[in-house]
Amino acid sequence: MPNTNPATEIDVAIVGAGPIGLIFANALARRGVTAMLIDRQPRSALASPASDGREIALTRATQQILERLDVWPRIPESERARMRGAKVFDGESLFAMQIAPGGVPDQPLGCLVPNHVIRRAAYSALDDLDETEADGIFWRDGVELERFADDDAGVDITLASGERVRAGLLVAADGRFSATRRAMGIAAHTYQHGQHMLVCRMNHEQAHDQTAWEWFGHGQTLALLPVDTHCSSVVLTLSPSDMEAQLGLSQEAFDADITRRFDHRLGAMTKAEPDAEWHRYPLASVYAERFAGRRQALLGDAAVGMHPVTAHGFNLGVDGLWRLAGLVGDARAAARDIATPTLLSRYQREQRLATGPLFAATMAIVGLYTDDRRRAQWLRKALLRAGDAAWPVRRLIASHLTRAID
Ligand SMILES: Cc1cc2nc3c(=O)[nH]c(=O)nc-3n(C[C@H](O)[C@H](O)[C@H](O)COP(=O)(O)OP(=O)(O)OC[C@H]3O[C@@H](n4cnc5c(N)ncnc54)[C@H](O)[C@@H]3O)c2cc1C
Repeated sequence: MPNTNPATEIDVAIVGAGPIGLIFANALARRGVTAMLIDRQPRSALASPASDGREIALTRATQQILERLDVWPRIPESERARMRGAKVFDGESLFAMQIAPGGVPDQPLGCLVPNHVIRRAAYSALDDLDETEADGIFWRDGVELERFADDDAGVDITLASGERVRAGLLVAADGRFSATRRAMGIAAHTYQHGQHMLVCRMNHEQAHDQTAWEWFGHGQTLALLPVDTHCSSVVLTLSPSDMEAQLGLSQEAFDADITRRFDHRLGAMTKAEPDAEWHRYPLASVYAERFAGRRQALLGDAAVGMHPVTAHGFNLGVDGLWRLAGLVGDARAAARDIATPTLLSRYQREQRLATGPLFAATMAIVGLYTDDRRRAQWLRKALLRAGDAAWPVRRLIASHLTRAID
């Protein structure tokens, strides 16, 4: 039987209460804009997400935005690891390209925080909004969007539960394989890298110097992200079949294999939590052809799903939500429509400018470093040693990581 109940009226309907959806709703509520969060997961899972193995390198700008939204103070000091710089190695060579912050002495390049800790803090900040702001947040968990129809004045949404919602703006924040983006008819350039990434914390005998390592060997890519003096998050990228074999190793053999892959540079390495489950990600990069449509916008990985090698996906998502919440909030403060075509095309233009060069640079790095042919090997050796002038990517990455907001 058709649902004859009146539709719930809302300013912004957000599909996806991942870190980006949660923080976006928080930013909107503080600007007096009502938001509905729609997620297929139950609220209990969103409130206390389990570890997913990801360590997120946060830029200075992201930290400032999280501070303003009361998310940053909810991240315990013990979960924040300072990253002084990053080194990029190629093959067996001990030579490394250094990525370090320019300018301010002692300024770290970034700060590493586990993804589930960010999600927990984002949820708790939203939960603790003051009463007036919290009144503007509507939760629909354990449910998906079934269909929608947009017109010049708004979007009519039907949830799988049968509930009808009328929103001024529909936002897709449901991750890189976004079903909402597809339903909006927005195409996306998707690059399947044909590789899998394994993330796990390892203890090591030798101390590191709070520096992240990116190590491109032949047939494998390794990264090491500092957690504590003698503990790091190890990121191993292999072909799916090599990954199967890797995960079939006994604990002892796995530890010995990782120690060998890191060339004993940090001494013997052992899995920090031997019983912890493996976290494995098939690698895909996504760039949507448009970030906006009539009364529609894309945010976070639904707009740009970055390869993790340059550690920017979440940061670009925060940049985008801050931009969109600013535009929507300013329109609300001036009693204007919150989702005009002009507003949305400004969001799209600015967000594409902010993400396009980094996405392209990241894809170039991935292409160059995972190509084991002789010419590519020669080219990356030359580039690693060439310095700033020939390697602007290095400055682009460092300046993004240390950039502050206005
Ligand atoms: C190994 C790894 C390391 C990374 N390291 C970094 C780093 O160092 N720095 C960095 O900036 N970024 C990093 N990233 C990227 C970062 O994790 C993502 O950019 C970020 O999680 C994206 O958040 P999101 O909210 O857009 O999407 P997601 O986290 O994917 O959340 C999407 C939400 O939508 C919900 N959902 C999905 N489909 C539907 C549907 N149909 N209906 C309703 N709800 C739905 C899901 O339940 C989920 O809650 C890394 C990623 C990986 C894989």
